[in-house]
Amino acid sequence: MPGHPIPPSSLESVRADVIKLDQLFEEHDVVYLLMDSRESRWLPTVMGAAKEKLVINVALGFDTFLAMRHGLPPSSDAPILAPSPGSPFRGKLGCYYCNDVVAPQDSLTDRTLDQMCTVTRPGIAAIASATAVELMVSVLQHPLGPRAPCDVALSSTNAASPSDEPASPLGIVPHQIRGFLARFENLKITGQAYDRCTGCSEAILAAYRSDPFDLVQRACEDAHALERLTGLDKLEEETEALLAEGVEWSEEDDC
Ligand SMILES: [Zn+2]
Repeated sequence: MPGHPIPPSSLESVRADVIKLDQLFEEHDVVYLLMDSRESRWLPTVMGAAKEKLVINVALGFDTFLAMRHGLPPSSDAPILAPSPGSPFRGKLGCYYCNDVVAPQDSLTDRTLDQMCTVTRPGIAAIASATAVELMVSVLQHPLGPRAPCDVALSSTNAASPSDEPASPLGIVPHQIRGFLARFENLKITGQAYDRCTGCSEAILAAYRSDPFDLVQRACEDAHALERLTGLDKLEEETEALLAEGVEWSEEDDC
């Protein structure tokens, strides 16, 4: 896991684990990420993206959950249209880390048990996992399978308009479903892939494909290595430079 250095005495066993995990990804069609921490999802996210597998990720909060599919490069059979508000998104969908501006870090050391483990309402795990299974089933029934575009309009909680017939016989294939038990409500969210993502960007996938264990070792030693690899470390600098240049806002732009 990023930010968790590998003790020298465990190097060989971790190397063997990485090879084994890599083989398991190769042999399976769908992989579920049902882990307990942010950083534990990193390696299987990278492996799933590198091998272009359907990865279904589920995360729980006290009374909230996330069930999502990780994006793959779009199928050449489906036209890619520029993203526009109110239209379904046809580009590459994001992964769990695509919205992050920092790499996953060690979030476990020196934490109390209740900080490390998610305490949840009793029904959340069953609702989230059932939703995730149904998401997989809908994706697999779509003619483009894991490359199915998202039917849900960008920046919108509404499904595509009824005139857009969903391509999967089971209905729409959303990207992310976020559930809020306190309101008994689910939101469908669409997120685009980020080209500096520490989980699925080209820089990470190229490094993984060229030497899987080397990437794992570098990430474990220092999670910031992932930020340097993707250029995410420059983001803050670039934002500050942009602000220093001065951004002009007009009165009409305030929405
Ligand atoms: Zn990503």
